[in-house]
Amino acid sequence: MIRTRFAPSPTGLPESIHLGFVIRALWNYALAKKNGGQFVLRIEDTDQKRSRKDTEEAIYISLKQFGINWDEGPDVGGPYGPYRQSERLEKYQQAAKLLVEKDYAYYDFDAAVREKEEIKESYESKEFTDQLKIRPAARSVSSAESQKRLEAGEPYVIRAKIPEDKVFEFTDWILKKKIRVLGKEVSDLILLKSDGFPTYHLAVVVDDIAMQISHVLRGQEWISSTPVHLFIYEGLGYPVPEIGHFTVILDPATGKKFSKRDMEGKFGIKHWLDRGYLPEAILNYLMLLGWAPKDDRELFTLDEFVQTFDQAGLQKSNPIFDEKKLNWFNGQYIRQTPHDQLLQLIKPKLEYETTDDKLTDIIPLVKERVSTLADMVDMMRFFFIAPELQAVNQEHVQAARQVLGKATWEKTDIETALLDEVKAHDWKTGDFFMSLRLAIAGSKVTPPLTESMLILGQSETLARLSAHAQNETQT
Ligand code: GLU
Repeated sequence: MIRTRFAPSPTGLPESIHLGFVIRALWNYALAKKNGGQFVLRIEDTDQKRSRKDTEEAIYISLKQFGINWDEGPDVGGPYGPYRQSERLEKYQQAAKLLVEKDYAYYDFDAAVREKEEIKESYESKEFTDQLKIRPAARSVSSAESQKRLEAGEPYVIRAKIPEDKVFEFTDWILKKKIRVLGKEVSDLILLKSDGFPTYHLAVVVDDIAMQISHVLRGQEWISSTPVHLFIYEGLGYPVPEIGHFTVILDPATGKKFSKRDMEGKFGIKHWLDRGYLPEAILNYLMLLGWAPKDDRELFTLDEFVQTFDQAGLQKSNPIFDEKKLNWFNGQYIRQTPHDQLLQLIKPKLEYETTDDKLTDIIPLVKERVSTLADMVDMMRFFFIAPELQAVNQEHVQAARQVLGKATWEKTDIETALLDEVKAHDWKTGDFFMSLRLAIAGSKVTPPLTESMLILGQSETLARLSAHAQNETQT
């Protein structure tokens, strides 16, 4: 039975939920669903000071927005709950004690002073500092001595007792390579803090065992602590599941990992959703950021991705975030979206009064030409608000005003009248229509011009041409 999990820590601001989150949830989800297994959502809130309820809430909302639903989790329950780590403290404390009994861990009564710094260091820096590799003196304290200090009520942490001569080895399920680390390179990480809370290392193993997780797929930042996790599995007497680490999405601007600040900016989910990117398009783009199908197929719904996703397609090199490609996907999805749905999506973004009927006429004209909803709103603006005066060819707009003033307001009549005028003056068709686009819509890129004029109406079209005919500026 395949069981996967997504185990976010709700520590940043709600806005800091980023695209990397979605990829991790998505691939775990796909692996479970493809194999008829379960996908678990676990909230890792053992850092009580930094954990936030609103961020936990935002995690639920974000996943649902992308259609990624979980079978078990804090809100829906399940057979292996609770699914919030702060509600499982006893289990970690029991496991830590068991590890001490089996000589896989030891009490350290001197650690409390630098505990915070040390934990921070072990989470944030990839290579543990040399200082951390030095075995703490507490390692050789006798158990009788420890017992005495315990009974005296002294505060303590519990550390992993890593054998220096041990060889830790595992094959990464995503990176598909064997990783080998010597015990002397692995520090005696803190497993249980002096406040009785576990560190990530202990909690993750205890929970993945208890929740019967078959595949632990997680961020690359955890790769260097995997040996300690292997050691805990051994100490608790359980087989190690498959473990894999996601590639890192690179910022094209720096060629490096996105910075913390970018997580709330251009790498944040909110940034893209607020700018009118469709969740389906973002999701489809993310599917291919580090995974590739056997053929060149690019468009996948979530269900199609679930059916196609496989380990073989996982890429080993770090993908680079490509906004242009995301735009391409978004354009594709805008074109696939039914008109009435697009109407509902853009209505709240409009800064002018209009009617559904008018929008229904306009949407088909613009949706083929944009890659975002924001572009769509921009491109539609001239239907409601006259553009600022542009520098245009006076002769072109004057001629157009004259013939259009006499035209019946009907497609073929408008087109014939304008083309006759182009021919009569021997103008270049492209130049002539460019002048009209600028005068009527204020831009060189517009929906089809005749259809746009039909929607604008004859008097408004003539008014815009007149305004430009009186404009002194010549090109
Ligand atoms: N809470 C960890 C994180 O947010 C989870 C890592 C894991 O998936 O094991 O990175």
